[in-house]
Amino acid sequence: MRNFDKFAPRLRNWSVMLTRKLSGFSSADYRALLRQLLSHGFRDVRLSELESDKPHLYLRHDIDLCLEKAAAMAELEAEIGVSSSYFVLISTGLYNPASLASRRLLRRIIEHGHEIGLHFDATQTLHDEDLQSAAAAECDILADICGRSIHTISFHRPAPSLLNLTGNFAGRRHTYEPAFFSEIAYISDSNGGWHHGHPLDHPAIAEGRAVQLLTHPIWWIGSGAREAVPLIRDFADRRAAELHDDIAGTVTAYAKWRDDKGLPCGRHS
Ligand SMILES: [Zn+2]
Repeated sequence: MRNFDKFAPRLRNWSVMLTRKLSGFSSADYRALLRQLLSHGFRDVRLSELESDKPHLYLRHDIDLCLEKAAAMAELEAEIGVSSSYFVLISTGLYNPASLASRRLLRRIIEHGHEIGLHFDATQTLHDEDLQSAAAAECDILADICGRSIHTISFHRPAPSLLNLTGNFAGRRHTYEPAFFSEIAYISDSNGGWHHGHPLDHPAIAEGRAVQLLTHPIWWIGSGAREAVPLIRDFADRRAAELHDDIAGTVTAYAKWRDDKGLPCGRHS
């Protein structure tokens, strides 16, 4: 009991800290963050242009869940006048980059002046596949889908062996090269919070040194719940409703059963 008393205040502090860090982002927050970074003299650059001792800002978005939110973020950035890189998964079961809807969204992102890169999930390869060959093959698929060559790769939930890998990967630059990762400021919103401090508090901002800022559109775009878990639960519910619609569009018997039951269409309800 004495031990618990000793640690209880610290546990309460952690709990408060975690709650604050997971309380959500909004598109207005992202817009304000970009404007503040620009007001500090930062300039958006492509990965190949980044110089560590300059106020260069590499804006990266990994699209883990939702291309619609990525396209909305691309428009927001274009309004502010910055260009960034959107990394697309090929091997995911969570969205299909080759669907007509996805291709329209990718076209919107490109038309707003952004780069499309490959978000490579090394866990989705066969045991006898060479990782770089698999990534190169995915780049070819993505290039066919979006009608642009793919020059850059980011790894999805990378194993430690992929972090700080020097040199090209699959013949392309990648975002975890030491020059873009451990040797500059690397700031991420993973899990819906600034778990390692707010970007503007990073010493690189005051010193005018290069920053790679990784943000996931899912945390910033949209209305409704903004905290991480409720936001993801809302997203999953909406996706489930869309899945029922898509199945009804393919299986007439199921569509008729839903009609007979008076069930609403998930996409428009
Ligand atoms: Zn990812």
